Amino acid sequence: MSRPLIARIDLQALHHNVSLVRACAPGAKLLAVIKANAYGHGMLRIAHALDVEGFAILTLDEALCLRKEGFTCPILMLEGVFSADEWPVLDKGKISAVVHTFEQIVWLEQAVLKSPVDIFLKLNTGMNRLGFDAGKIREAHGRLQGCPNVASITMMTHFSQADEEAGIGKQMNCFRQMTKAFHYPESLANSAAILRHPATHRDWVRAGIMLYGASPIDGMSAQSLGLRPVMTLESALIGVQEVKKGQMVGYGNEWIASGKKRIGVVACGYADGYPRHAPSGTPVLVAGCRVPLVGRVSMDMLAVDITEVPHAQPGSRVILWGEGLPVEEVAASSGTICYELLSALMPRVKTI
Ligand SMILES: *Cc1c(COP(=O)(O)O)cnc(C)c1O
Repeated sequence: MSRPLIARIDLQALHHNVSLVRACAPGAKLLAVIKANAYGHGMLRIAHALDVEGFAILTLDEALCLRKEGFTCPILMLEGVFSADEWPVLDKGKISAVVHTFEQIVWLEQAVLKSPVDIFLKLNTGMNRLGFDAGKIREAHGRLQGCPNVASITMMTHFSQADEEAGIGKQMNCFRQMTKAFHYPESLANSAAILRHPATHRDWVRAGIMLYGASPIDGMSAQSLGLRPVMTLESALIGVQEVKKGQMVGYGNEWIASGKKRIGVVACGYADGYPRHAPSGTPVLVAGCRVPLVGRVSMDMLAVDITEVPHAQPGSRVILWGEGLPVEEVAASSGTICYELLSALMPRVKTI
């Protein structure tokens, strides 16, 4: 038998989550965000399983990989090109790109293309990450509109706080101001906005985390939103130790038994993508029972207290997150968010 750690991918859950996006945003086209290897779920597997109007990715390599697989729908590079020489390649692959700097516009104006490309013009409405702000939009738009290499323009922005009830008001006002002179298709909503703010849905919604069945909203569980987890990270106990009061477990001797305990050793560590900073007490499912992690997470293993689960033994099934244990809980316990845990899954973990 091989190492028991696997990430089980539930495509039925994926389809269920897509229908939730459709139900939330019935009039909008869906750009499935499959960057970061589809948030750790496997880009091609997820792309093949989805029935959507387009894909959003980060790099030209990812876009070309999708084209090579035969996908003909729009594919959007979320940060656009990173250098001038990417434009002609992008054009050959009929790939769409975000434009967020004047450098990208200059490169586009100077590029020799076979056919014009579809552009998503990124507006900075308050997040102050990427995009043109109110003072620059006229020039940016004018240059793109006058550029023979541009086939179409879609107006786009991104919210910094769509998970809050009142988090988008200022940015929405800014977006309205900046786009009121234009009549282009629009794309604003990420998962949180899809779930919380129908006014943001417009022409294209950009769903990432909700496709994978995790909650984008702090304090709201995926289950309460109607989402189903797509990834279950599961493994098995590969060893059991009996320790007495005062004995320690793991590197740094950080955890000390308060009495006689049974300790289970799980084949999963930080080199698999499990967070090294998960503290003692982080929940783990062993043979269907919730037990606490104990001691420091090692590179390839972690330990759990199975004193309360007498039937647990080497070979017992362990779930690190997914079915029965929301990834958001493990993330919260470890001081991070579900996005980081899912997308940090290491290539050495087999996915099935
Ligand atoms: C990653 C990303 C998304 C998806 O966000 P989720 O919160 O995962 O839905 C949408 N838009 C942009 C610009 C992104 O970078």
